[in-house]
Amino acid sequence: VKLVVLRLGHRKERDKRATTHVCLAARALGANGVVLSGENDPKIVDGVRKVVQNWGGDFRVEYRMDWKKVLKRAKADGFRIVHLTMYGERLQDVVGKIRRKRKLMVVVGSEKVPGIVYSLADYNVAVSNQPHSEIAALAVFLHDFFEGKELGKRFRNAKIAVFPQERGKKVMRNKTMG
Ligand code: SAM
Repeated sequence: VKLVVLRLGHRKERDKRATTHVCLAARALGANGVVLSGENDPKIVDGVRKVVQNWGGDFRVEYRMDWKKVLKRAKADGFRIVHLTMYGERLQDVVGKIRRKRKLMVVVGSEKVPGIVYSLADYNVAVSNQPHSEIAALAVFLHDFFEGKELGKRFRNAKIAVFPQERGKKVMRNKTMG
């Protein structure tokens, strides 16, 4: 499965943390990359790339001003577009159908999402029909889509990894890891 997240409408000041968290949640929970749109914010791109260098994997992050072009090109390349919105169909009703697709672009918004996104999307999907957050919606979508398998994902070429244990913090660095 190839799954890329498109984050719409980033606002440099207001969304600094939220957009970073969209990227980190996407990476940790099995997405292959994020395309950022809205205001250009190289600090976020650099910050996420640093996380990838340290924590491994081949997650890609890039900025594209023209998100309509991104969506249209993705569709032309065979990606199905999943737009996460509280107004959509219920996740639990459509996730089975979506799981059968091999290439997905998952779109999350920030403030107001332009109407055309709803029509360009193959699926408008609600993670409950209550208002909440793009980070929460993305995390729950990915967890359901991957059926929990994303939690065991391996991140190749990591310089740092956590050694899971009941208490305390144990971290492995570089050579100690395979
Ligand atoms: N009223 C806004 C709108 O017009 O969509 C909601 C913005 S909300 C703060 C930011 C983003 O979180 C949305 O664009 C959507 O991607 C996601 N989101 C929030 N609640 C959601 C839900 N219940 N289901 C799916 N996605 C949701």
